Amino acid sequence: MTFDNLGLSTDLLRAVADSGYTEPTPIQQQAIPAILKGQDIFASAQTGTGKTAGFTLPLLQLLGTTKSKQVHRTTRALILTPTRELADQVKDSVKTYGKYLSLRAAAIYGGVGIKPQVQTLHRGVDIVVATPGRLLDHIGQKTVDLSQIEILVLDECDRMLDMGFIRDIRKILAILPPSRQTLMFSATFSKPIQQLASGLLKSPTQIEV
Ligand code: AMP
Repeated sequence: MTFDNLGLSTDLLRAVADSGYTEPTPIQQQAIPAILKGQDIFASAQTGTGKTAGFTLPLLQLLGTTKSKQVHRTTRALILTPTRELADQVKDSVKTYGKYLSLRAAAIYGGVGIKPQVQTLHRGVDIVVATPGRLLDHIGQKTVDLSQIEILVLDECDRMLDMGFIRDIRKILAILPPSRQTLMFSATFSKPIQQLASGLLKSPTQIEV
């Protein structure tokens, strides 16, 4: 199995080759084609399985090909993570895999000043990677516009729920366009995770690795 027949564009395949990856991991083999088809995903995957590239590569492709000539950048993808460390890691992955595309990403999290984030968001970003609490602050201050979100990723869902983010997540979900594609990743499939998934996902492709 190689990356060549997963449906990824040459710009993304070049970035994958630069990273030194020769073979897609099991989650990448299953997730990438399904996400490219526009399907919702419910994946159980631990850290270390390659899940980040599994959602980042197809997400970049979906964003990169549908509206490449936009003048004003609208935020079209939102990735929620439980911690600022993970938000930074995911943003770095977006940069690494998107190096041959012209998409902009920002990591938005608490514990640091809000002003630089406001400026970054004001300049326009295609992809927001955020922890739920600080994102809600931006929503409250109207410094982020999520009305054009086409793809939502919930990364490490079980950790977000363990950290008590469920109410924040539900508030965020309530303002997102319902017509989006939603990708859920979780190491475990607990009852609360399944409840969240059943209200959120439309005929999801289930992936277990
Ligand atoms: P993740 O599970 O997303 O945290 O990724 C774990 C690690 O695997 C990261 O350091 C990635 O750079 C690496 N990785 C992701 N996909 C591949 C691949 N197809 N081949 C080799 N390494 C990979």
